[in-house]
Amino acid sequence: MSSEPFFFTWSAQREASGIEIVSGQGARFTTKDGAEWLDLSALSYQANLGHGHRGVIDALKSQCDRLLLTTPSGLYPQKSQLAEKLLAIAPKGFSKVFFTLGGAEAVENAIKIARLYTGRHKLLSRYRSYHGATLGALTLSGDHRRPPLEPGLVGVTHVLDCYESRVPGGAMVIEGGGSAEAVEATLRLEGSRSVAAVFLEPVPGANGVLIPPAGYWDGVRAACDDHGALMVADCVLTGFGRLGTPLGFEDFGDGVPDLITISKGLTGGYAPLGAVLVSDAIAQHFEDAVLWAGLTFYGHPLGVAAALAAIEAYERDQLFARAKTLGVQLASRLAALQDAMPERIARLRSKGLLAALELDVDFTQLAEIKGRIDAARLSVHWNDRYRTLILSPPLVISERELDDGVTRLHRALE
Ligand code: PLP
Repeated sequence: MSSEPFFFTWSAQREASGIEIVSGQGARFTTKDGAEWLDLSALSYQANLGHGHRGVIDALKSQCDRLLLTTPSGLYPQKSQLAEKLLAIAPKGFSKVFFTLGGAEAVENAIKIARLYTGRHKLLSRYRSYHGATLGALTLSGDHRRPPLEPGLVGVTHVLDCYESRVPGGAMVIEGGGSAEAVEATLRLEGSRSVAAVFLEPVPGANGVLIPPAGYWDGVRAACDDHGALMVADCVLTGFGRLGTPLGFEDFGDGVPDLITISKGLTGGYAPLGAVLVSDAIAQHFEDAVLWAGLTFYGHPLGVAAALAAIEAYERDQLFARAKTLGVQLASRLAALQDAMPERIARLRSKGLLAALELDVDFTQLAEIKGRIDAARLSVHWNDRYRTLILSPPLVISERELDDGVTRLHRALE
């Protein structure tokens, strides 16, 4: 038996291991063995505000003295304040918030809202996507985590992805085999006016930072309109400045989704919270139709307090704009790195503070590189299937730390 009395996630238990973080500040954290790490991962993509954030910690402490117990229908001022803040971050035309505990639950409730609103049950999503670990969200997820749990929901169809990558030398290539036209064709073939919603991440993150080419986002929006399907933007990972914008899709076109799911950066990871942002027409529908959805910890005061403090910090320190500026620096450093080792870095994709390097290595080389990056005390993400290294530093990382991180990465990749 493995040594811990709890399960590790996504693992056979015998070989599984964890990391014990004992303290942290900004983009650095320290583990129990005394090692200091540079965080180029934001842990599970949620630590957008970095470690040891005083404002959020103090807000949580004072919430403990103010109110902890409430009910799903409970009223308290911060709950309304947060909903109003979130609607101000959403595009125009959004009028209600449904609170959840995390990202997968936000996706589950978006599925339910879409089905209840449209009266249809079919759903469409993409193969290289991840929407969460609950059964419905996992059925939507196209990646390798879905098949072991099949069958999931009935009526879910997947389509190929469509993204743009930089090859050594600087040319951009469109890859993935999918297109907005293919989304339209699939909606038509599934039976025009039979699909409730198309779910898509603005940029699938854990599946390799798949940035859509010009026209794709608006093309999917138009396809949804043609077939009366809702467009659901899963912004759980891209939200709260990761791509240098509030939710992540704003730079990809004019298309506005009907539902938006958020979590992770919403509280900077300091407390569990997620939400579905709901557009006017759908919110209006539930004035008279019953919203068959709820959960005990709906709008829990700790999550709400953390989110309000996190949003205050994003606004005060202008962190979304900062991510955009630092993103330009990161993209140019990584492009130079790719050009310096064209035989090693086959593809580069980067937007804001989210970047992927697709390596041209075998599994032995990959293991060696991972070992060197660990030894350099850089916390990064790996997608082994695509031999891809993913960077997602906290938005508070300094220019110098970012620069130093790329330099250490360069050495480890050599
Ligand atoms: N949606 C996206 C795009 C995600 O990246 C994730 C988690 O990585 C989820 C949903 C699920 O969120 P959670 O793990 O909080 O349930």
